[in-house]
Amino acid sequence: MSSENHERPNPPARTARHGWVKLCPHWSVNNIHDVHINALRELGIAGVLLDLDNTLVRWHQEEMTAETLAWITELQEAGMKLCILSNSVLSTRSERIATRLGCFFVRSARKPGIQGFRKAMELMGTTPDTTLIVGDQMFTDILGGNRSGVYTVMVKPLEKHEFAYTRYVSRPPERVLLAMLRKRGHLKHL
Ligand SMILES: [Mg+2]
Repeated sequence: MSSENHERPNPPARTARHGWVKLCPHWSVNNIHDVHINALRELGIAGVLLDLDNTLVRWHQEEMTAETLAWITELQEAGMKLCILSNSVLSTRSERIATRLGCFFVRSARKPGIQGFRKAMELMGTTPDTTLIVGDQMFTDILGGNRSGVYTVMVKPLEKHEFAYTRYVSRPPERVLLAMLRKRGHLKHL
């Protein structure tokens, strides 16, 4: 373990996810900046799938912070492949952002379905063993990631503003399940 990142959180090992534990991320962090390059190397990751809304950018926004851009550049310079994996159907926003960043994208990904994950891994030339997803939602990003066999990282949403469906239908059970998973020792972080 590198000593230069001793204040940064270390990623838990990848463990198999069965049954309802497929809802449990391998790693729970505050934001993308906790997912540092040394952690990715330690996990043997070659490709990173990125959720868009409330993970990389604020809900329905296109601009990202200088820190987020720096994080992306650092990963790219280290040779990581990146792919935006977004469920939005109508917007071409993910395409515009991906073009600007110089990374791959899959929109209408239909997470937690696994087709979008497969397509993204094909684009990046990675396998589930060398792929990780970062996202803010249990029922799309995390469930889809675990079903696809990739390493799953859950971040806290960047802001409270989100689809009414997400806010009122997905988040309440997500909170209950996170508490249960934590209580049973499946989720040791945060
Ligand atoms: Mg999201």
